[in-house]
Amino acid sequence: MRSGEQNPCPCCSGPLKAIGSRQRKYINGTGDTIVLVIRRLRCSHCGRLHHELPDILIPYKRYGNESVEAVVTGEGALTVTADESTIGRWRNWFFELVDYFLGCLKSIAIRYGKESVENASYVPKSTLQRIWHHVGDAPGWLARIVRSVANSNLWVHTRSAFLS
Ligand SMILES: [Zn+2]
Repeated sequence: MRSGEQNPCPCCSGPLKAIGSRQRKYINGTGDTIVLVIRRLRCSHCGRLHHELPDILIPYKRYGNESVEAVVTGEGALTVTADESTIGRWRNWFFELVDYFLGCLKSIAIRYGKESVENASYVPKSTLQRIWHHVGDAPGWLARIVRSVANSNLWVHTRSAFLS
C-alpha cells in the first residue's frame, strides 16, 4: 500500500487522513480469491468521509475510463494512442472484474429497494448489458460502476460464499 501520495478531498481539497480500512473479497475468473483493501479517509477540513479506490479497480487511470469503455464495448473511437498489449490488458482487467462489479451492483440495488428480484420480462443477455441495466450505458458508465462499488459497504455474495 502506497501511503506517500494522497489525493486531496474531492469536496473541498482539504487534506485526507486514513482512519481505517476494510477488506473486500471476490473470486476472479480463474477461481482465485482476491482481497481488496479499501481505506476509509476523513477530510481534516470539512470532515466528510471518503473511500479510497483500490488500485485494482482503476489501474489504467492515466488513460481515463472513457478509453477503457471504448475498448470493452468495441464501440467509439479511442481518443488516446494505446498499443495492442495495453488494449488487451484493459479488456482482461474488465472481464476479470465484471462478475464482481455485477454482484456489487445487484447488492446495492436490493439494499436500496430498487429491485427485489431481477425482472423476468427483462433479462439482458450479456454481462455488460446486465451492468448497464444498473448504471445505464451513457458515457461514464465505468466510472459510475467503480464509484458505486467503492462506496458500498456491502460484501459480495460470490458462489464460494454460498458454498461455505
Ligand atoms: Zn473536505
